[in-house]
Order: sequence, then structure tokens, then C-alpha cells
Amino acid sequence: MQIEHQCPQCGGPVILEETDRLLTCGFCRTRLFIQPRDYFRYCLSPSDPFLEDIIYVPYWRFRGMHFLCKTSGIKDGIIDKTFLAVRKKGLSATLGIRPQALKTRFLKPIEKTIFLKPGIVFDRSSAETKKAITYELVRIPETRFVRGGRNGEYIEVSDTRLEVKEERVHAEAFVADTVSIVYAPFYARNGKLFDAITNETIDSDPLDDPSDTETFSGDWQVNFLPTICPNCGWDTIAERDSCIMFCSQCSSAWEAEGKGFKRIAYRTATSDKVADKPKTYLPFWRIRADIEGVKLASYADLIKFGNLPKAPRPEWETKPFYLWVPAFKTTPSAFLRVAKQFTIADPDTTSDPLPREPIFPVNLPVQDALDTILMIIADIALRKKDVLPRLPDIKTRVQETLLVLVPFAETNHEYVQPDINCGFMKNALEWGRRI
Ligand SMILES: [Zn+2]
Ligand SMILES: [Zn+2]
Repeated sequence: MQIEHQCPQCGGPVILEETDRLLTCGFCRTRLFIQPRDYFRYCLSPSDPFLEDIIYVPYWRFRGMHFLCKTSGIKDGIIDKTFLAVRKKGLSATLGIRPQALKTRFLKPIEKTIFLKPGIVFDRSSAETKKAITYELVRIPETRFVRGGRNGEYIEVSDTRLEVKEERVHAEAFVADTVSIVYAPFYARNGKLFDAITNETIDSDPLDDPSDTETFSGDWQVNFLPTICPNCGWDTIAERDSCIMFCSQCSSAWEAEGKGFKRIAYRTATSDKVADKPKTYLPFWRIRADIEGVKLASYADLIKFGNLPKAPRPEWETKPFYLWVPAFKTTPSAFLRVAKQFTIADPDTTSDPLPREPIFPVNLPVQDALDTILMIIADIALRKKDVLPRLPDIKTRVQETLLVLVPFAETNHEYVQPDINCGFMKNALEWGRRI
């Protein structure tokens, strides 16, 4: 979804992607951090730009990565849904492809416009998988021996048999999920209601009942924050989808919070094998959490839990267990694979100054990283039959989060971490920036 906006500094037109957190004006070079107050609120434009007396109907928009831990393994995918946020007959239940196909704007005050109140509260459960248990008939190939040869000997015949397979949903996670509101335009003429995009009549109740409507609130608009370092005033390093800004002058990292920025801690991972190679730093969230329900307090516990092929060392009994989650979006399957590899590898870190080399933008906030904890535990578990049914009862309490920049050797198409033996295709990371 693309958003048309005007530069708050010079009024020049700017086209933003829905995932952009930074507005960069091509005319006056202003860079501003975009911060919603509650939700991002967008509106679709009517086909007639001069239309007056618009009635805006709200739809919830929900997007993100989706993980489902089932009996047969972890399934992943991308969710992109819209739900009608009011109870009115005749209005379509979803917006379909309209958000992708049409021009949108941030909501702003327009005279003589009516906004319908979202009468239906958004709840993630409306996007959740409804059936906890499903049964599937599966064909299992098998070989049978039948007496069929010329001399009465047995011969092999391939056959299939049907089996009922039970699939249970043990846990579900939405990651990097965003909830926003998209307003669709309508208008009333001669007692009838019209869709202001297609100009078709809608068989619905009138939409101007004052008890269902609300007036534009200043809180619906986004805040624009300057992107200079709050500590030293230097220009920060941030890309259009960054949710963390770095300052190379005073080696600091900043996260938007309310109407300002909060300083966050970061460290750099050590890696011998990429020392003299062209490199890019990829950001990870390192999380220490109390986990109730499975024994995962120390690194030694992790080795046992995953039955990892590592000779146990006494010092691992006191070494804390950390979960490592990419701080950037990528394809859901690569995301989980790398989270597992890094959690097992648990690289060492140092508090060096900010690296001079490029840092891949942090586009996955730490709150989203926390949503993946159960999926990573499920993925690492050796005894899945025991662990998966217990997932709904596992409670986690986060003790500490830390941003760690990990050096990856860069080739034409890949980022590779030879110490951990893992890598990413560059195009998977670029694709992730638009989730
Ligand atoms: Zn400008
Ligand atoms: Zn600074």
C-alpha cells in the first residue's frame, strides 16, 4: 500500500510505503521519523476528488508474519487481511485488493466529513486459526506382495492405504504484525448510499446516525520527529523502514517512544572469519527470559533440550540461556531457521563503538521478537511429542533484551556468517522490508 503525503516542511509531494518509518523529502531533503499516536489511519480517495459530504467507513487492516505450530511441524505464512469495523448490513466485509490498488493518504481533517466509529474492537483472535484439531485423510504408499507370477511366486505390487491423521494446533504467533485503520469513502444522495470509489449504490442502512459517528481527532494524525541524535545533535543513520536510529558520532542507538526517542543498549558480536572481508552488520535481538514449563535456564539446559551435538562443558551450567531473534523481517521460514541457529550458536559480544561498515536497518521492534519465543522453543525441542502439547502452558517473563550487531560477509547475492554457518539471500531481506 502506498501513501501520498505532503512534506511537513516544504509541502512537496512524497510517496511513502506503508512500512516506511522515515519520511525523506526529495525537494527540501528533510528527514522525519513517522510515529503514530495509536494506529496508523489511512483513507482511500474517492473517484471524484471534489466530492463533498464524504462518509468514511473504517476497516481494520492486519498484516504480518504468521506461525502455526502443528503436530506435523511449524507452518508459516504472511497474513494480510481487512475486516469491516462497523456492524452495518450491505457493506462489504473486507476491502479486497483496494488498499494495494488505490491511492491512500494519512487521515487529515476535511470539512463536512463524517467518520463512522469503529464499533467492532480489533482483536487478534479474529485472525486466529479457528480449528484447534483437524482430521485429514492421507494416502500412505506401501508395497504388497501377491501371488501372481507364472509359477505361483510372489510379486511386488505398489499400493496405497488410507489413514486418518490428526493435526492439532499447539501454538500460534503473529510476528511483525501491524494493525491500522483504512477508511473507505461513501456518500448519500437522494436517500441512497453510494460507494464513492465505484459510484455503485449500496443496499445499507443510512450511515449518518450521530450516535455511530465521531469527529476528526488530532490524535489520529501521525507525529513527525526530527532524526537528529538526541544526545549530540549529529544526523543519525536510519533507512526508510528503520525503527531504530544509530548515531555514529556518539555511538548510540535510539528507539522512538511517544513523542521522543529513548536510548537503547546495543553490542557488537565478535567474529574472526569475517574480519577482513567486505561486511554488513545484521541486527539481532538477544533475549533473556524466565521460562516456566520447560527447563531452559542455562546454556547447558539448551544443549539437553535440543539434544545438540556438543560435548557439555562445566561452565555452561552457569551460562545464561539467550534467545536470538532477527531484528529484521525476512521470509518467515528463514526467520525461524536463523533464530534457531543463532540461539544454538549464542555468539560472544563486545561493547565496541558503532561499526563503520553498513548496518542493515532494524525493522522488527523488540516487542515483535518476543512473540516468537514459543516458536523457537518448539523448533529446538528434541522431544516434540512431549513439548508441543505443553506449549500453551509455557509462561515467559522477559528479563533483559539487547540489540546485537552481527558482522556478515557480503557477496553479490548473500550475507553469510561463517562462524555460525548461516546465511541469507539478499532478496529475501529486501522482500522482508515490505512485510
Ligand atoms: Zn520538503
Ligand atoms: Zn550522537
